[in-house]
Amino acid sequence: MNIRAKISIGYLLILCIVIPAFYGMTVYEHNNIRDKEVSIQVKDFKSSFGVLIERDTKTLAAALEVIIQDPGIKEKFMSNDRDALYRYGEPLFKNLKERYGITHFYFILPDGICFLRLHNKDLYGDMINRHTFLKARETQGIASGIELGKTAFALRVVMPYYNDKKLIGYLELGEEIDHFLGIMKEETGDEYAIIADKDKLDREDWKSVRKVAGLRDNWDDNEKHLVVSQTTDVRLLAKCSDEAAIERVEKGENELHKFNNESGSYICTGFGINDAAGEHVGAVLSPVNITHFTNSMRKFNNNAMIFSGIILLISAAGIIIFSASITKPLLKLEDAAILMEKGNLETKVDIRSNDEIGMLAKAFNSMAVKLEETLSSLRKKNKEVEKIVYITSHDLRSPLINVEGYHKEIGYSLKELQAALKDVELPQDVREKIVFIIEKEIPESVKYIDSSIVKMDSLLSGLLRLSRSGQAELHIEKLDMNRLVSDVLDTFKFQFKEKGAAHDVEKLPSCSGDERQINQVFSNLMGNALKYLDPARPGVIKISGYKKDGEVVYCVEDNGIGIPAEHQDRIFEIFHRVQPGKGGEGLGLSIVRKIVERDNGKVWVESVEGKGSRFYVSLPA
Ligand code: ADP
Repeated sequence: MNIRAKISIGYLLILCIVIPAFYGMTVYEHNNIRDKEVSIQVKDFKSSFGVLIERDTKTLAAALEVIIQDPGIKEKFMSNDRDALYRYGEPLFKNLKERYGITHFYFILPDGICFLRLHNKDLYGDMINRHTFLKARETQGIASGIELGKTAFALRVVMPYYNDKKLIGYLELGEEIDHFLGIMKEETGDEYAIIADKDKLDREDWKSVRKVAGLRDNWDDNEKHLVVSQTTDVRLLAKCSDEAAIERVEKGENELHKFNNESGSYICTGFGINDAAGEHVGAVLSPVNITHFTNSMRKFNNNAMIFSGIILLISAAGIIIFSASITKPLLKLEDAAILMEKGNLETKVDIRSNDEIGMLAKAFNSMAVKLEETLSSLRKKNKEVEKIVYITSHDLRSPLINVEGYHKEIGYSLKELQAALKDVELPQDVREKIVFIIEKEIPESVKYIDSSIVKMDSLLSGLLRLSRSGQAELHIEKLDMNRLVSDVLDTFKFQFKEKGAAHDVEKLPSCSGDERQINQVFSNLMGNALKYLDPARPGVIKISGYKKDGEVVYCVEDNGIGIPAEHQDRIFEIFHRVQPGKGGEGLGLSIVRKIVERDNGKVWVESVEGKGSRFYVSLPA
């Protein structure tokens, strides 16, 4: 996965968390507000129900106070004349009914027997045992409360009736509370229903009440409860008046289920009604309209979707731009690194930003500059080394140096060399050049070799590579090996003489290669053959060659001290010597191997310690 994809996925993941989280929080908050508002509304309608009861209780009590003062009523009541009392009281009751909605008017005797119902003249003589009455009798004061009758809830106020401080009975006024619902609906606009527990009602009475009112008998709508009165929208109220809802209200919950219909969204609310004895007898239910909340939620949903869409689009654009701003420079860096790997060290990365990538590019550029500097100084050194190697392994094997017995010793004496030079006849300009080499270049070179001796191997490889890439040009040609070997032998004339050694050269097949390099190969092999002759016997060096399968194999053979078997594999390694301190410093054979291998040839040795060695060089014909 590339960086751009990673950034994109990361960013999308963040969005996948942020957007739903934001959305969830808002929905949660919105629902919170809605619930709060609904609960405020429930409290409101509960308290306005309470206020209505309180207000009407006061009205009923005030009316009773007035009635108690009426001497006509008292006189008729005390004279025990039911008909006279009815006649006298009936217009008053009518008036109270029309004006104040008072529906019940009782005269009760001190023992609790009903003397007269102004609202139902024919029913009397029964015992009143409603809680309100019992309380008034017990406290000898005014008592009030809601009572569930056989078919309806009524608010009742009972007051003791005195004549000259002597109790003559009780007066009771009552009103049905159904009209509260209308008042509350007018105030809030919501629909209301009053529910009663069925087991406290009378089935037959209910049937006839409904019949008289011209209403459907709804007794069987619910199992345990009955809607005793309700405002106009019956269908809406039906959604809240099921048993499950009522049960929850009875448990004390105020907010019930939500539902939707064509006129909007609602949440059912309600509260229980206790009668004057504090017993649970029913409930008031109301579907609260929460349409404006659902609408605003819908609106919010739409907006959130548009908003999320815009955020996603902006983010996508952002990701593309942002990731491009990271990956583009990185790609540039990568390109530059590839170019550099191919050897193009002038490569620079063009990134100027001040961030980490800019710093990386700067570091890359300065690294490229340093690398180039290092490499060019390395090239320079390589050239020097090439020169040194050439001088030490070729030029210094010239008759001049060899006359003096100088090979390529490190730490040789300059004075010896200069003294040697004196005795040799040379044209002036050649002499000057050699003096320059001896006095300047060689000491410097030796110093350099000293210090860089460890790096020599790689430098040699670099050198050979450089010469292959045209920095030191090779001239591959067909070589007359008879002539080349005779030239080499010529340069060692004096050593042969000095060592009293002989050479034996066969007719050699020709090969192709760079004359200077091949010359160096044979010079090194010849030099070694002479160097490692056994002083105990006359030395003989044989040079032979043969052709085989497109290859030419040459052999330089000596009868010298030979090479111990365990060293034979390693003598071609740079600096490897059989006896450190003797001979040279272990460079010659490694140069031989590098030259031969570069020309796709091979070099190997066969040797017997104490008997002599054969160095084979195979080259392409
Ligand atoms: P050096 O400068 O020490 O001669 P070379 O790389 O030419 O370095 O040779 C490595 C070692 O191999 C020598 O030190 C020597 O011990 C051994 N060697 C090379 N040629 C011969 C030979 N013809 N006979 C015996 N030993 C040899």
